[in-house]
Amino acid sequence: MQLWVTEKQTDSLCISFKVKEILHQEQTEFQHLAIVDTEQYGRMLLLDGVVQTTIDDEFVYHEMMAHVPMLTHPEPKKVAVIGGGDGGSIRELLKHPSVEEATLVEIDGRVIEASKEFLPEIAAGLSDPRVKIIVGDGIAHIAEMENYYDVILIDSTDPVGAAFGLFTEEFYANVYKALTAEGIMVAQTESPFVNQDIIERSFRGISQNFPVTELYLGCVPTYPGGLWSFTLGSKKHHPLEANWERADQLKTKYYTKEVHRAAFQLPPFVQEQLDRIVQK
Ligand code: SAM
Repeated sequence: MQLWVTEKQTDSLCISFKVKEILHQEQTEFQHLAIVDTEQYGRMLLLDGVVQTTIDDEFVYHEMMAHVPMLTHPEPKKVAVIGGGDGGSIRELLKHPSVEEATLVEIDGRVIEASKEFLPEIAAGLSDPRVKIIVGDGIAHIAEMENYYDVILIDSTDPVGAAFGLFTEEFYANVYKALTAEGIMVAQTESPFVNQDIIERSFRGISQNFPVTELYLGCVPTYPGGLWSFTLGSKKHHPLEANWERADQLKTKYYTKEVHRAAFQLPPFVQEQLDRIVQK
C-alpha cells in the first residue's frame, strides 16, 4: 500500500508527497497538526494540511528569513520571532554572537512541543538560555512593545485564522513601534506565482510604515510555486549595505553574502508586480 499526503495549495493546484510513516497527528486548540515522514524531504510539519517545514528544505527558508536582516543590522541584541514555533528561525538567529535575548511568540504551544519531539534538528535552539518563549498571540505582544527589539521576524502561517492580522498595515505599524531606532523586520510574504494578492497587501502595508522596504526571493521547493518571497522593512539600513565580514563567519547551507545580494535582483515579472503596487 502507498500512502501520500496532498496539500491543496490553491483551488487548482495540489502538491503530493509519498509518506513513509505518519508520526503524529492531533487537533490542537488552534489547528490540525501533523508530522509525517516523507520519502522526498524527510520529516514534515503540516498545519491544517499545509506544509510548514521539512527536514530537507527548511534551511533555505530559515536562513534567508534570519540572516538577511541580522547582517543588515549593525549589532542585533534583542530579536523576536512571531509564529515560527518549529524553532528554525530562532536556531538561525542564535548563530549571531551579538544576540542577548531571542523571544519566540507562538500562539500554539503544541507546535513547539511537537517540533521539539519530532523535529529536534529544527527545534534544538529553543532550549538555548538566551531564548524566551511566550505562548500567546504575536499581534497582542507586538502591540504592547515599544522601542525594544532590534530585529523582528514574522514567521507565520498563511494569512487565515489567527495569522490574518499578521499581514495588516496596523500590525506593521505596531512592528515599527516595537523596533529600536535601527530596527529591521522581515515577513514571509508567500509566492510570487500564486499569492500576488498577499505580496501586494504586505508590501504596501510595510512600505507605508518603513522608509526602506525591499522584497527578496529564495527557493523553497515544498512551498507553492517553489519560489518564495520575503519582505524586509528597515528604519535606517539598506539590506544591500550589510555587514559582509560577519556573513563569512556563518555556517549555512543556502545563505551566503553572494546569495544575499542576488536575492534582491528580482525577475521582471516580480519587479513589475512591485512597481504596480508603488504606482497605485
Ligand atoms: N515557515 C512556515 C510557512 O511559511 O509555512 C511558517 C512556520 S511556523 C510553524 C508558523 C506558526 O505561526 C504556526 O505554528 C502558527 O501557530 C503560528 N501563528 C499563526 N498565527 C499566529 C499569531 N497570531 N501569533 C503567534 N503565532 C501565530
